[in-house]
Amino acid sequence: MSAPDTLSLPVTASVHEHAWVTESVHATSEGRVRYVRCTGCRARRVDLDPAAATPPVPLSREV
Ligand SMILES: [Zn+2]
Repeated sequence: MSAPDTLSLPVTASVHEHAWVTESVHATSEGRVRYVRCTGCRARRVDLDPAAATPPVPLSREV
């Protein structure tokens, strides 16, 4: 297997541990979508916090 099955993203020369900071958060039915950016380089990423991780807790009874 000489061809790695990855996305056709450009490979950055400098590999470092990204320091992700959240730029914006959007609540979706899939969970919270977070748009993050690395402070050390220009890398960006989209993270998803699964909705199942924190199920909603009712604060009141049904009325
Ligand atoms: Zn980085």
